[in-house]
Amino acid sequence: MKHTILDCYTDEPAGLGVPPYLGTYPRYIAGCLNEEVAYLTIDDLRLWKKHNGIVKDIKPSQKTDITTYNLTINYKNIQKILENTDTLIVVLGVHVPGKYLSAVPGTLHEIIPMIRDLRCRKILTGPAVFGTQLFGGRFFEKADLKVFDKVDYSMFNFKYSDVKGYAVKGAKIIRQIPDYRMIEIETGHGCDIGKCSFCTEPLKNKVEFREKDDVLKEIIEFYRLGCRFFRLGKQTCFYTLPYAVELLKEINSNCPDIKVLHIDNVNPVKVVMDKQKDFEITKAIVKYCNSGNIAAFGVESFDLEVVKANTLNTPPQIAYEAIKILNKYGSESGSDGMPKFLPGVNIIFGLRNESKKTHEENMKWLTRIYDEGLMLRRINIRQVAIFEGTSLFNEGKDKFLRKNKKMYWKWRNEIRQKIDWPMLKRVIPNGTILTNCYAEIYDGNTTFCRQFGTYPIIVGVKGRLELKKFYDIEVTGQMLRSVTGKVVVEKEVIREVYKNENRG
Ligand code: SF4
Repeated sequence: MKHTILDCYTDEPAGLGVPPYLGTYPRYIAGCLNEEVAYLTIDDLRLWKKHNGIVKDIKPSQKTDITTYNLTINYKNIQKILENTDTLIVVLGVHVPGKYLSAVPGTLHEIIPMIRDLRCRKILTGPAVFGTQLFGGRFFEKADLKVFDKVDYSMFNFKYSDVKGYAVKGAKIIRQIPDYRMIEIETGHGCDIGKCSFCTEPLKNKVEFREKDDVLKEIIEFYRLGCRFFRLGKQTCFYTLPYAVELLKEINSNCPDIKVLHIDNVNPVKVVMDKQKDFEITKAIVKYCNSGNIAAFGVESFDLEVVKANTLNTPPQIAYEAIKILNKYGSESGSDGMPKFLPGVNIIFGLRNESKKTHEENMKWLTRIYDEGLMLRRINIRQVAIFEGTSLFNEGKDKFLRKNKKMYWKWRNEIRQKIDWPMLKRVIPNGTILTNCYAEIYDGNTTFCRQFGTYPIIVGVKGRLELKKFYDIEVTGQMLRSVTGKVVVEKEVIREVYKNENRG
């Protein structure tokens, strides 16, 4: 039985698998299948189906084609691989729509016509089983799934006692990916609060944590295979992890040459509660992770009315206190040029009971944060996507989205202009040297670069730098959500480390 995994990428409240991130789903599935499994991306399939498998050189005036940017080593043999495939496992699903600099996740409408003619068994898995939506402010995408022989989340939603072995065995799919990847590491799933009206995580998982040694073994295996960029990102709150401090220490001692170790979601309530232990988790993150690290706070709204109506976990006062704590311990600049560890804030439009006052409250708290000299690394604003089974779907649906939609551009723009822009000048002032920025795409005569990391800042550089190389860049200006810069050093260091390892 020959299996092929087709990665159309995933993005969930807890867990990212859109390049340059490599998500957990294809890795665990590869580890579970007791065979040499072929790993393909949606980019491989698009190149074959839409461009006859030919990678075109782009003209200096053109943008990089990010729909076919993330090819595997298998792209030239895709037809043969698919002809020899007995079962195609399609991993797909976006639950928190975002903008991706160098990838476009596949949708059901895109993928179904492209795989219809393949004469193999087809299984759809990943978050898409619960629905998928690339764009905020909409219901989940509806599609006729008859093309699939099976649509099943649970068959690949392994118990952690199985993940233990699969995660290590499945790390080998990195050998089929020629580019650098940020490895998304899972530490737990489910949410111990679990009531936010829009969220699908409680529908998918009960609260459970992986064993510390299992997580560590997986990281060590990826490290052995040459990976140097990691995010402990697949969990709903890093501070809730019972062994957070020990894990960070042990990763450091076992993988001394890690270039990036970051985290993702954090519940602000837990940051404040860490006071009982003299903020040991915050201090450990600052000490053992790399700079540029961000705790993504799912504040969603600073309007108490909305907080209550959607049973959100963080009242504004708690969010504010947690922001202050991280600033106290993490705002110093680190070796890569960025502050060591800062809060990020997520805001969602379209929740129940949203009104004009909601925006006023958001602005009031964000202005206070700015005026007090505190730093936020980024404010992520999106319109809610509505999924079946959530409390928002059952009560309210898109009522408030429809009601307030015409205000969203204005609300968002005010936050961008009045908070984000001056904040960026504070967090990444001119003259900052951002080390190891990776040149990802061209847009005309501009190259867009980013450091590897959790929500790294986009740096626009004039001219067309060689892509997929690293550069140290001096910041020369700030846009609303990105900075401009000029190259000061061209780097080869990381590439050499990565290549010399035994990737097979
Ligand atoms: S805190 Fe809310 S948004 Fe975050 S995982 Fe739990 S239920 Fe979902």
